[in-house]
Amino acid sequence: KDLPADSIIENSRRQVKKACFSYVTPKVPSNPSLIHVSPDMLKNLGFSEADIKTNRFLKIVTGAELLPNTKPYAMCYAGHQFGNWAGQLGDGRAINLAEIEHNNKRWALQLKGAGETPYSRSADGLAVLRSSVREYLCSEAMFHLGVPTTRALSLSLSGDQVMRDVMYNGNPKYEKGAIVARVAESFLRFGSYEVFTARGDDKTLKSLVDYTINNHYSHLGVPSKEVYIAFMEEVAQRSLEMVIHWQRVGFVHGVMNTDNMSVLGLTIDYGPYGWLEGYDQDWTPNTTDSTHKRYRYGTQPQIVLWNLFQLANAIYPLIDEAEPLEKILESYHANLEVEYLKMMQSKLGLKNDHKNDALLIEDLENVLQLSETDMTIFFRNLANFKINEPEKWFKVIEDAFYHPDDIKSNIEERWDKWFKIYKERLLLEELNDDQRKTAMNKVNPKYVLRNYMAQLAIDDADKGDYKLIDELFNLLKKPYDEQIASKKWFAKRPEWARHKVGCSM
Ligand code: AMP
Ligand code: MG
Ligand code: MG
Repeated sequence: KDLPADSIIENSRRQVKKACFSYVTPKVPSNPSLIHVSPDMLKNLGFSEADIKTNRFLKIVTGAELLPNTKPYAMCYAGHQFGNWAGQLGDGRAINLAEIEHNNKRWALQLKGAGETPYSRSADGLAVLRSSVREYLCSEAMFHLGVPTTRALSLSLSGDQVMRDVMYNGNPKYEKGAIVARVAESFLRFGSYEVFTARGDDKTLKSLVDYTINNHYSHLGVPSKEVYIAFMEEVAQRSLEMVIHWQRVGFVHGVMNTDNMSVLGLTIDYGPYGWLEGYDQDWTPNTTDSTHKRYRYGTQPQIVLWNLFQLANAIYPLIDEAEPLEKILESYHANLEVEYLKMMQSKLGLKNDHKNDALLIEDLENVLQLSETDMTIFFRNLANFKINEPEKWFKVIEDAFYHPDDIKSNIEERWDKWFKIYKERLLLEELNDDQRKTAMNKVNPKYVLRNYMAQLAIDDADKGDYKLIDELFNLLKKPYDEQIASKKWFAKRPEWARHKVGCSM
């Protein structure tokens, strides 16, 4: 308080050199209130239900009060955005509060939307209710789907108004400000390393890579050239596993820039993401990417590889030999083919390998693409197919078709042919219909966070009604269960919701 104003230099927006993070203080929210808390994460972090009843908990997860002996910080990183080098980005609206150790696991606790940092560039460091509901619900839903992801502890209102769009009449549009407390073993990204390599700062690069290995990849051993290579190999493997899961559940990230690629292989940054409704390799929820569709569903696995190239380039100075890195990147293709096939076989209830399986799957993908067919409903209902009643395939999957009449008139034969081959293929398996159904229902979710579902929850929340957030949160905790009472969420997207939902900021 006694310092001249211009001495608080470390919080100004700037290029931060030779440092992995900058200390910052969260903005004190004007009138914070808690909307929802994840009981799972509460437990994981060692909090209790009683804690959330206290004002102190609310203050901590909204940045109004700091945990004792902590020094919150924002991380420095760079990134390639849409294929182009973007230079320094950094946590423009995320602040790490602390690391919490509980039950032998260490978690980084981060507030998203708690005010500006040196990395805020031209933006405000805040988040709105809309995007915060989306991140909160989706990250927890992804976890319960079995997808590696960052988690969420809580969703709160800051009580502040946040300006987002400027309306056509020139007046600014305000939205409710919100803060998600999110949690991960680490929020380090590919871009965290790229920033130092681009600046020729090998010294800081090495200390960050060594830190990463010592703290998050310690099973690989003491950092050395061999260990750096093993590290790269494991990041590639984890990233592949992550994206295979995305393809399995129909999740489209929407903004797979290298600053949004976790070095732990976690799904990170829930911005303009969306869920496939009609199966479509070319679909992206990101309206700013609608021309090139760089980050469309079908290219996600290839984009992971592109991003891994950037990470390999970033750590190259520590290895100084291209060949081992090239080998890792080259084997990604072969691994992708193997893992994708395995995943798709599981979605079809195929346990054994057969030489024609890749063809069967490709053929299915082609037919699915022909007429708008709901991905989630198709695979879930496919488990009801009976080997002795192959002619009844239409009844089995009818609910998945957005235009059932089109199927009858145009592509019935294509489907008929596919189901004949599928039936023959199932005869080579040992499982009976019931056993196959049980196996398939473990990999084909019944409930995902359809884009319109999140939107309905947002609309209610904006009016101060949080019941739907709670309902969806609980529904998505058991995405593979039947949950008969929630049948209404196992349904095609209503027509009003077509292309109307999605958001990023
Ligand atoms: P994203 O597209 O969400 O990965 O964000 C790209 C960069 O923009 C990151 O450095 C973010 O921290 C930053 N950013 C996004 N929104 C804001 C905001 N409202 N205020 C400050 N920085 C932001
Ligand atoms: Mg980001
Ligand atoms: Mg974002």
